Amino acid sequence: MSETTTDVLVIGSGIAGCAAALAAVREGADVTMATKATQPEGSSSWWAQGGIAVSKDDPEQFKADIIEASDGTADPDAVDVLVENANDAVRDVLLETLDVEFDRADGAGSPASKQDLDFGQEAAHSDERILHVDASTGKAIHVPFLNYLDAHDSVEIREDTAALDLVRHEGRVYGAMLEHDGEVEPTFAGATILATGGIGELYPNSTNPVGMTGDGIGMAALAGADVADMEYVQFHPTVCVDAEEQFLVSEAVRGEGALLKNGDGERFMPDYHDDAELAPRDVVARAVETEREQTGEVRLDVSPLDFEREFPDLVELCEDGGIDYTDGIPVAAAEHFLCGGVAVDDRGRASLDDLYAVGETARTGVHGANRLASTSLLEGLVWGLRAGEDAVGREVQTMEAPELLNRDPELPEKFARDKFHRLRRVMDEYVGLERTPEDLNRAQGVLRRLKGEVDAYVRTRTSRSLYELRHASITALLIARAASENPESRGTHYLAEAAETTAD
Ligand SMILES: Cc1cc2nc3c(=O)[nH]c(=O)nc-3n(C[C@H](O)[C@H](O)[C@H](O)COP(=O)(O)OP(=O)(O)OC[C@H]3O[C@@H](n4cnc5c(N)ncnc54)[C@H](O)[C@@H]3O)c2cc1C
Repeated sequence: MSETTTDVLVIGSGIAGCAAALAAVREGADVTMATKATQPEGSSSWWAQGGIAVSKDDPEQFKADIIEASDGTADPDAVDVLVENANDAVRDVLLETLDVEFDRADGAGSPASKQDLDFGQEAAHSDERILHVDASTGKAIHVPFLNYLDAHDSVEIREDTAALDLVRHEGRVYGAMLEHDGEVEPTFAGATILATGGIGELYPNSTNPVGMTGDGIGMAALAGADVADMEYVQFHPTVCVDAEEQFLVSEAVRGEGALLKNGDGERFMPDYHDDAELAPRDVVARAVETEREQTGEVRLDVSPLDFEREFPDLVELCEDGGIDYTDGIPVAAAEHFLCGGVAVDDRGRASLDDLYAVGETARTGVHGANRLASTSLLEGLVWGLRAGEDAVGREVQTMEAPELLNRDPELPEKFARDKFHRLRRVMDEYVGLERTPEDLNRAQGVLRRLKGEVDAYVRTRTSRSLYELRHASITALLIARAASENPESRGTHYLAEAAETTAD
């Protein structure tokens, strides 16, 4: 078995991984960035629509909005780190290093000065503070970011390369086992940064691209790292699931005045929350699903705004997907974001030595029980930079890597497909938008059995899909367990029976 070494190993190439790589290179390190993706679209970062929030000149109000959206559960120290670093990180990396062409106040793409940036508004933000590029902000950031790193001599980007396991010994992480084209080799690093994104593959409907199987969380948990807030899974309320290829309709559309209407053509959000369509995501998501159940469908009426002018990208998505938006866009709730993850400190350090986690894989404390819109790209950027900088200067040590056996490479493919199907069904039925203690117990029983079956296969077989299934089943079990251990309905964790009891 051959092996490679690098100062900093970054696993994942979304905004968080890119930011970590950038900061590490700036500190003089050699960086290897391994990513399962074969193209930029393989990361959620590419798909981000609404934008990235900044604090402008009112950081205290931004902090208050984040804490309010989290139902008072966000960690104020983490929120301080996010907000205090927001303006500088965006200016330094996105505006000055990558030259991202954010929309301007006097019209998208016009060559005005940077002071003329157009700040949008989204649900639960009390101010206009979101930088955006039409409804394709992620793409406009992610593509130049990858290109910038790719042009750097000190960065090696290894595409179509999956981390299967961490190399660890006695509380320290030495690197990871990386698979490419069926071959598995260790890469040893002074520091290993997990930036593997979210958990979309754990649910049948998700806004995430394929491949989001919770790998970073699964690998870290197996290695013994702490995880936290796993019960807080955010569902996005407005996903057009009827389109040929489902797509998300950004909060920015409601921010600009679009209205949610039920199957009887009636607007319903004012009955659920004072902020109506701009209420926190969990409230809107549950309301949408309730109305869909009771009246058959929910549509987003975009007639109050100039949809064609303001959201040409979404118009295109509607047209490509066979959706006539003039009748309202049919929407449903779908899994969107995991607020919890690998527990880290203000520099992205996990509980094992030389292991970091950033972006959606990490639990920084910023989101608590519910995430405020457009703070995830920012969190990935801020924590990525802080972790990348901190990770530099550690000794690279090689050691005997675990041998991953592959006695029967053919079998696991179908096995993994079938078991994934079962896992998604369980998560959808028992660990979705509304939960009950009985359902959560049921889910844990099924998921424990499933994990047992996967573990048995992993002892003798190695394939990417089998390891993805392994990570997904560990992550799913962590979510179900955390949900069943938390009796309090807060934010995205909603216990149907407990909530009814409180209402009485
Ligand atoms: C449709 C959509 C719209 C969104 N809109 C917004 C928005 O407007 N504003 C906002 O702030 N947030 C938004 N979000 C959320 C935000 O985009 C994500 O939370 C954020 O981009 C996550 O960044 P990340 O770097 O942590 O992960 P990602 O960007 O998902 O990147 C994860 C990377 O890890 C790689 N990977 C995974 N497992 C492995 C492995 N085992 N080995 C190697 N590589 C691996 C993947 O291939 C990928 O490259 C949106 C998300 C979606 C899906």
